[in-house]
Amino acid sequence: MTVVAIDGPAGAGKSTVARAVAERLGFTYLDTGAMYRSVALAARERGAEPATIAPALEIQQLGKRVLVDGRDVTEAIRKPEVSEAASRAAADPAVREAVVAQQRRLLEGGDWVAEGRDIGSVVAPEADVKVFLTADPAERARRRASELGLDEATVLAEQTIRDQRDQTREHSPLQAAPDAITLDTTHMTFAEVVARIAGIVAGTGHH
Ligand code: C5P
Repeated sequence: MTVVAIDGPAGAGKSTVARAVAERLGFTYLDTGAMYRSVALAARERGAEPATIAPALEIQQLGKRVLVDGRDVTEAIRKPEVSEAASRAAADPAVREAVVAQQRRLLEGGDWVAEGRDIGSVVAPEADVKVFLTADPAERARRRASELGLDEATVLAEQTIRDQRDQTREHSPLQAAPDAITLDTTHMTFAEVVARIAGIVAGTGHH
């Protein structure tokens, strides 16, 4: 059983990188941000508090699809208003407790590449490999804007607010685990980043 933790701020390329690394290694990919997004979406739709519904919500990731209580929410959770609501919900310790408990249950069995903000620091401190993926804020906004077809300045403004909230929240603020390897990808290509991480995993013998 091997866990590769890939943490970092919004727009560092974690999702695409983690998915590609998982594919290369034959591990399962876990998108933990999708879980906070799912909680936020369900809370909005049901007019409920995220903390109230989080413990009982069934969040499944099947390949590229995300299902909440059996319904496909893959596209719905990517909307900008859900990004904002997810970042707010994720600042609530009760929400984090429920979501982290689900994540730990999943990671108990099998080989995983898990991506998020707190995997190496909180969810799986015993992870075999920890990578903290980052890039300049402007570069992160540029990548995210082109990926989502949105305006770069708008993405940068929203990203700055989310970064600030993720970094300064009291519970599990975004920070690299002390034993994480920080990869600044500003001047690296996608293929270089994937190869570097796969190389790190290979170097530890967990592949
Ligand atoms: O990575 P993604 O942008 O999908 O995450 C959505 C939000 O969920 C983030 O802004 C962050 O506040 C929160 N999050 C978190 N911890 C994680 C993953 C995501 O707090 N492990």
